[in-house]
Amino acid sequence: VGNRVRGVLDYGEVELVQACGDDLTPVAAARTSYAGRNGDEGRDRKLLRYLATNGHYGPFEFIDATWRVKAPLFVARQWMRHRTGSYNEFSFRYAEPTKLNDEDEIHYYTPRLWRSQHNVDRQLSGEARDNEVGYQRQMQTAILAYRTAIAGGVSREQARLYLPSSVYTQFWYKTNMRNLLHFLSLRLDSHAQEETRQFAEAISEDVKENWPLVWELFEEGLFV
Ligand SMILES: Cc1cc2nc3c(=O)[nH]c(=O)nc-3n(C[C@H](O)[C@H](O)[C@H](O)COP(=O)(O)OP(=O)(O)OC[C@H]3O[C@@H](n4cnc5c(N)ncnc54)[C@H](O)[C@@H]3O)c2cc1C
Repeated sequence: VGNRVRGVLDYGEVELVQACGDDLTPVAAARTSYAGRNGDEGRDRKLLRYLATNGHYGPFEFIDATWRVKAPLFVARQWMRHRTGSYNEFSFRYAEPTKLNDEDEIHYYTPRLWRSQHNVDRQLSGEARDNEVGYQRQMQTAILAYRTAIAGGVSREQARLYLPSSVYTQFWYKTNMRNLLHFLSLRLDSHAQEETRQFAEAISEDVKENWPLVWELFEEGLFV
């Protein structure tokens, strides 16, 4: 795979760093069931569709992929609820988050617009509203407190308590196609948080590019 970095939100990034298996890997895995030989392209596609349509998701576990993700802490927290992935995350104990960029800054997420609380669904946002007053000031105050604590000799593992959930972190996420499509079905959904959805959309672009046949079946709603 090419190392294409997709920008998300203001400082977020999604990069497919490695992948194993193509669209027809599930077909090859499935044929083991009856020691079958490779088919022609038409038969392969037909079998791929058959697997998805009939809920034979196991063979899709033979496609593996790993992404590097730079996302705000609150997005990462939602992401890592998906237990079927493997993760390794940047350590705020080991290093300061200034290390996550070349500018010696602490990147935090600033929404382009603020949303009102949804008036029916208690977990969703509603319409756009005026920009929140004082956000930048609050963030700068928090970052100054963090830097002051570090400069004053406080450990990084404790100084981070000053940092808000808007601060960016970085992690590697490895999963297989079956679990990835489950992740996407939940996080592309209109009930997912908008910011997390944008990361799921960036991941989807990689799926579309690298596994177009699988993506087609996913778009038809064959994976749950
Ligand atoms: C819109 C939305 C709102 C949410 N709101 C909340 C919330 O308010 N509070 C909250 O805590 N979480 C919330 N979550 C997180 C949600 O409950 C799941 O933890 C998260 O979506 C991961 O889904 P999953 O468990 O299916 O995925 P994975 O952890 O990747 O698991 C995939 C599948 O593997 C199986 N599996 C994995 N682990 C187990 C297990 N231990 N036992 C049995 N089967 C297992 C299940 O079939 C599961 O669907 C929300 C998620 C979404 C999308």
